Amino acid sequence: MLAILTYIKYVPVAVLRPPCDRAARYDFFTSSKPLLMSTDFHYCPACATPLALISVQEDGGPKDRLRCPACGWTHWNNPVPVLAAVVEVQGQILLARNAAWEGKMYALITGFMEAGETPQEGIAREIKEETNLQALELNLIGVYDFERMNQLIVAYHARCEGEIRLSPELVDYRLFAPDKVKCWPAGTGYALADWLRSRGHEPQFIEWSRPPQDHAPPA
Ligand SMILES: [Zn+2]
Repeated sequence: MLAILTYIKYVPVAVLRPPCDRAARYDFFTSSKPLLMSTDFHYCPACATPLALISVQEDGGPKDRLRCPACGWTHWNNPVPVLAAVVEVQGQILLARNAAWEGKMYALITGFMEAGETPQEGIAREIKEETNLQALELNLIGVYDFERMNQLIVAYHARCEGEIRLSPELVDYRLFAPDKVKCWPAGTGYALADWLRSRGHEPQFIEWSRPPQDHAPPA
């Protein structure tokens, strides 16, 4: 706990936003810049000394990383796990639109995994928080990289029931028959495509006229 408190005390507020501020969690849908680039860290979270790019001999050879010259703390910049769900309710696929997104993009329910929960518990919690639906059955679709945001997406198919009530983060949702839903060429879109293939549907992809980072796409 002491380490956590120290971290919060010294790390710049902007760095803390992604994991702490729910509203900021969706910046990654509209931003072309990863929220946790290694360059976003300026100070050691353990002793507040300015970090420096320091080369150290690691298992794979010499490696430049942001490190603390005083205490040796290393910013590993490991990818952050993000949970995603292809939510199925009454045989249809629910896609939702976040208030922060530009355009008319609809996407999977996603959220950061939290400490003290399993991935299954995490995605069931996110589904409940964002749609009010109860997940009856969860099956892993796959694991996908989202390198642009330095994230790792763990995607589930979630068979759900209940009355849909969106959280304030979401402004709208749509229900699609599995043979009508369109995928998008990025992390969670590939997860949706893989799930559709597993159900015998050949996925159709949205044509993006602009690069993904400019089109407010989902992960
Ligand atoms: Zn330090």
